[in-house]
Amino acid sequence: MRTYLERVVLCYAALSSYGSASKIERDGGVHPRAGVSSSVCSQISAALSSASDVYYSGSTNYSADNSHFFSSSALASACTVEPGTASDVGKILLILGATNTPFAVKAGGHSTNPDFSSTPGVLLATRRFATVAYHASTSTADVGAGLVWDAVYAALQPHGVGAGYSWLTGQYGLAVDNVVGYELVLPDGRVLDVAEESYPDLMFALRGVVTRFTLKTYPMGQIWGGVLTYAADTFPQLAQVVADFSASNTDPKAQIITTYYYAEGSAAASQILFYDAPTPPPGVLDAFLALPSLARELGTMDLLDFIRLPPSNGTADVRKYWGPALSAASGVLVSFAVEPFLPSLFARGSTRTAAYPPARARALLPLSLCRSWTDAAADARLWAAMMQSADNVKAKAVSLGQDVRDAPLYGNYALFTTPVEDIFGQSLPRLRGVKGRYDPRDVMGLAGGWKVPV
Ligand SMILES: Cc1cc2nc3c(=O)[nH]c(=O)nc-3n(C[C@H](O)[C@H](O)[C@H](O)COP(=O)(O)OP(=O)(O)OC[C@H]3O[C@@H](n4cnc5c(N)ncnc54)[C@H](O)[C@@H]3O)c2cc1C
Repeated sequence: MRTYLERVVLCYAALSSYGSASKIERDGGVHPRAGVSSSVCSQISAALSSASDVYYSGSTNYSADNSHFFSSSALASACTVEPGTASDVGKILLILGATNTPFAVKAGGHSTNPDFSSTPGVLLATRRFATVAYHASTSTADVGAGLVWDAVYAALQPHGVGAGYSWLTGQYGLAVDNVVGYELVLPDGRVLDVAEESYPDLMFALRGVVTRFTLKTYPMGQIWGGVLTYAADTFPQLAQVVADFSASNTDPKAQIITTYYYAEGSAAASQILFYDAPTPPPGVLDAFLALPSLARELGTMDLLDFIRLPPSNGTADVRKYWGPALSAASGVLVSFAVEPFLPSLFARGSTRTAAYPPARARALLPLSLCRSWTDAAADARLWAAMMQSADNVKAKAVSLGQDVRDAPLYGNYALFTTPVEDIFGQSLPRLRGVKGRYDPRDVMGLAGGWKVPV
């Protein structure tokens, strides 16, 4: 995935249609970490097998390991380590825990939040876990934890199957509801094959480092889809078409994402359409096609080609500013992405098997609010603007009668200042219990990401 964004943090809420974040700590920030002794890197290096390596500033691997999709989430680590086996991951965690060393686990590096998959401490990069093994007898695939979806789709395509998220959600539910098992390295160094039958608590609340996912796969042939761009004067009609689709679509093979954005001094909308068949049946997506568009790239293609289409793969060099208020703070783009899934979104899993979402009785849909800018000195100002924007959208949704005051936020999109209670809600007591049993010394608390309170 590649966008035109330079420096960005996403702010998000899971809402019934349109929404925003709530209860964000106004004075929150990246929590301070202890310093890192460089001897920890040497200690790790000495303990590892020949399948693994440690890298320092100046090396190509160090740069690649620390590189992130967005500069907002990149930090320079003391060293990076690329384990090649799960047992080496165990050795690393034992050393990090014993020396109380801050660390981060980085897979694809798509987190927008600083200090999640980046750290001034030791960066554990999963890139050497990079194999995909398809099992036709169980319709599952073992997927290495260092892969991005492009590589997974490319490996599964010759088998006529697919996996992943977003585009098949209408048919098969959330990604988390399609994981059959994990190879998980616990903070005490043990390597476990986690499945619902063997370790239900760990299926619910992973505690440690994942080295392999076992995912359900589904038949996948050619799909129909692509991207349309609409001018701002089409927004009222587009909003109506999106609302109609969200309210009335019952076809699980149809999926859309609508992104309203302001960049380069003007507003436009990008409309992604997806249908899981070579041609969509009449009526399902026709209303989008009937609107006048500035550009359209639509057709029958493989899933892999589809996910490589712009805007997610675009690299446009956006440098103009989008308004007087934040232009001085180097703001280059504002966007709101609406993702209307079917109301059956949560029906394929349960709160017993996954900590998120913490409640499934009511379908809630994601809304991603995105801001991009280029100047790191403007971070605090842009974060504040995003929170304000999220509050405004939420207040509007509530005023329109949507009961989203206490809707849980979505951890993949939430700003790092979001209290963990706002994401995991009633799952937190069980999360705490799992943490106490599998990580009593809170080794994973040294890593970045959402923190389960003690
Ligand atoms: C262009 C773009 C489009 C996106 N679109 C969507 C979308 O449509 N739907 C959606 O849900 N999200 C979307 N996201 C958000 C994205 O899915 C999340 O940021 C996700 O966490 C990225 O995974 P990653 O492996 O790249 O993350 P990283 O940044 O590498 O890691 C994210 C977090 O997971 C932890 N972690 C990573 N690997 C492991 C591991 N092996 N074991 C334990 N912990 C680990 C890290 O420590 C970190 O806290 C998008 C992001 C981008 C940049």
